[in-house]
Formats: sequence, C-alpha cells, structure tokens
Amino acid sequence: MARINEHFLKLQAGYLFPEIGRRVQAFAAEHPDKAGQIIRCGIGDVTEPLPSAAIEAMHKAVDDLATHENFHGYGPEQGYAWLRETIAQNAYAAHGIRVSADEIFISDGAKCDMGNILDIFGPDNSIAVPDPVYPVYVDTNVMNGNTGNIQEDGTYEGLVYLPCTPENNFVPDIPKEKVDLIYLCFPNNPTGAVARRNDLIKWVEYALANDAIILYDGAYEAFITDPLIPRSIFDIPGARRCAIEFRSFSKQGGFTGVRCGYVVIPQELTGKDGQGNRVPVSQLWARRHSTKFNGASYIVQRGAAALFTEQGLLETHTLISHYLGNASLLASACRQVGLRVWGGENAPYIWVECPKGTSSWEMFDKMLKEALVVITPGAGFGSMGEGFFRISAFNTRDNVNEVCRRIHKLFA
Ligand SMILES: *Cc1c(COP(=O)(O)O)cnc(C)c1O
Repeated sequence: MARINEHFLKLQAGYLFPEIGRRVQAFAAEHPDKAGQIIRCGIGDVTEPLPSAAIEAMHKAVDDLATHENFHGYGPEQGYAWLRETIAQNAYAAHGIRVSADEIFISDGAKCDMGNILDIFGPDNSIAVPDPVYPVYVDTNVMNGNTGNIQEDGTYEGLVYLPCTPENNFVPDIPKEKVDLIYLCFPNNPTGAVARRNDLIKWVEYALANDAIILYDGAYEAFITDPLIPRSIFDIPGARRCAIEFRSFSKQGGFTGVRCGYVVIPQELTGKDGQGNRVPVSQLWARRHSTKFNGASYIVQRGAAALFTEQGLLETHTLISHYLGNASLLASACRQVGLRVWGGENAPYIWVECPKGTSSWEMFDKMLKEALVVITPGAGFGSMGEGFFRISAFNTRDNVNEVCRRIHKLFA
C-alpha cells in the first residue's frame, strides 16, 4: 500500500480563488447580458505585454539553440553567471547593497522557491507568518508537517500569526515569543504595505537576538518609488546573518508566464544542526538546487538578463509606472467615495476597508452584482483580512478608468 503524505489532508480545500471563480460564474450564468462587462481586479496577474528588450533577447536565444556554435544544453543549476552577475550589479550594487553573484540562485519563480526552501529546514521550528498572508507561506508549511490542524477561525495550530492592522500600518510587530523562521513580504501582497527602515531594523535585531531566520519575499521590490524605503532586507545592517531574500521577474518584468526568479542567501547565514553546530545555509540550498533542479531555461534567463540593459530598465520602468498609475487612480476613486485605503503607492495592490457592517464576502458580492467588478475579499487572506478587500492594479488603463466610474456610481 502506498501511503500518502497526510499533512496534505489538513489543507483547506483551495478555498479563495475557486470560490471567487464559482461566484463569478454563477452570476454570469444568471445574467448573460452582463457577463461581458465584468472586469476582473481579483487575481494578481499582469496584463501588459513584455518589455521588447526581453522579447528580442528571447527570440535571439531561440536562434542560438538552432546552431552548433551557440547551442546550450543543461546550464549551471544555480543559473548562468552572466545573469547572476547582472542581478548582483543592477538589483543590489546599484542601490548600494552588497550581494555577490555566487550568493544568487536562479530559479523558475519565487513561489516554487518559497515552498522549496522548507526542504533545508528541520521539523521543530517555530514559524511566524503575517495575517493577512500570501497563502503559499502557510500551505507549504502545512504540507511539510510544520503545523497542526486547521482551527475554527481558519488558522493552523502551531503557527504564530502576526496581526497586520491599520494600527501598525500593516507592518507586523515583533512577537513576544521566540520564533525560528519568520515570513515577511514588502511591498506586501495583499495589503500593499511597505516597511520603513526602522521597521526592518526591529525585525533584524529580533532575528539576530533569537537566532531566527527571516524569509523575505521581495517579489514587488520593483514597485518601490520612495527612495527612503529599503529595497532589500540586505539594506539593513546585520541582515546578512539572519535573512534569505526571494525575488521574481514576474511582477518586475511581466514574467508571470515566462517564469524566472531567484533566491539570495548570504555566505554568512547559518542554521544549527541537532548538536548545535553552525551550518552555512547556502551550502544546503546549493545541494538541494543541484539535486532537485536542473536550472531555469536558457531562453528565459536571456530574457531576464535583458531587463537590466539600458533599454530593459527603461521599458520596465514604463511598465511599473503604468501599474502604479492604475493603483493611484483606484485609490483616489475609493477615497473620493469615503472609503479608507492603504497601499497602492509602492505596490500594485490597494487594500480597502469595507463600509461599516459589511463583511468582505458581502462586499465581494455587492461589487460583483452592482458594479460588475471582481475584487478579492480580505477574509480569503486570513482572519485579520476580514473587513477589507484587495483591488489589483494589474489591468489596462481603460479597465481601470471604467472601474473607477463604477465605484463612484456604486457609492453615489
Ligand atoms: C506574485 C508573487 C510572487 C512571485 O511568484 P512567481 O512564482 O515568481 O511568479 C511571490 N510572492 C508574492 C507575495 C507574490 O504575490
């Protein structure tokens, strides 16, 4: 008999986006005349074509594979040196942050990396996650057996939830208890919140004092426009001894369908074995990577590297400005009708408080039925998300303008 991993059975059955899909479909079936007018501001996927620098580089990379001279088979598991060097230079050194190319591990995306990283950590860690949360952090820990069962309020036994509320500007306070692994994500999905330097200093000090490791999700780094906001956890002194950073080209370059990301693990970062000996974490990740992964596609890595050329940087900037412009329009529309809004300034999401007495799913239904706009109910991201909803700025400008008009009409 083949025994399954029973931890999977503890997972809440893929609740949020399937439920949204079900409600949208049911409404569209009942109102076929309106179905075509529904605008989706729910899922965080990009809408705009890729920067032409990336397209041209990938076309050329395909042609490389057509000749003996330029053919590429298996590449290095950690990624091509030219991409790792380019990232070290442009994503870090250019911002005054010290990360060397051999501390960068290229992958096919940050979601996989965030799940896979648990391979290199032991079973008895105490783990803290923000609430509301990007569900991947929670579900991968459930699968790995790092939690107990789900409870009445949707939280899992054994995880430490860090409340993110208007009071703390959606930047979690350090916990009273000692934890070993901490997930942080800034700019944040779903709240669009950013962490200031002082916020991150507190977390790094906490991690160093408690011998903890911060798993820092920087997927939305490219949306930071305020020069005072740290672009990387490694901009904070001491972070090289207590943090791993996850980055992705998905939101930076519109690569959600192309697939490329990377992990940064500083040489200094260590964890403890059962005898209390310190072991470099990057050694374990390098071993895992070369055993379970055969490298991201050559074509895709060429496309990613092209995002850092002069043309690529310019086009990426245009792309990000487009989405940030959308976010700004959506945020103003919500404010004009009296809603409280967070995020949207250094992030492609705005986080909106539901009108008093309206739950986040009631708000979802109201927006769908009366405005034909799909949003994401905050409750789907965790118990602290109740009473809020997320509007994604990943859309065309025409759609965003139309959503703004409908928000005005709905609350007029
Ligand atoms: C989109 C996103 C990612 C990136 O995932 P990829 O697998 O690289 O596409 C990572 N973290 C968060 C919070 C995200 O929203």
